[in-house]
Amino acid sequence: MFDEADARDALPKAVAAQRKIATFNSGIKISAHVADVVPANIRELLHGADLVLDATDNFETRYLLNDYAVEQNVPWIYTAAIGAYAVTMNILPGETACLACLFPNRLAEL
Ligand SMILES: [Zn+2]
Repeated sequence: MFDEADARDALPKAVAAQRKIATFNSGIKISAHVADVVPANIRELLHGADLVLDATDNFETRYLLNDYAVEQNVPWIYTAAIGAYAVTMNILPGETACLACLFPNRLAEL
């Protein structure tokens, strides 16, 4: 999603991702929001989303995404990376375990 030019220009992740994704398919509409996702704005930011792709860097936000996705029955993809190690997990509400099912201790760091 990001390259050296994005880093050099200190481009917000959402804007860099928007630009990159737009090169994949010119027929899609992308709305970038440069904002912290918090309980007060998650419904506004994610309203109408068909899929939530986690690119966050903290578990507080991931659990917030999880709770929203489960409540709204929206699939989401958990992602995490440190150095050369990365994990992903597809969460389909009602079909798979969610983040809170697998890691009920919300203070745990993976
Ligand atoms: Zn669950």
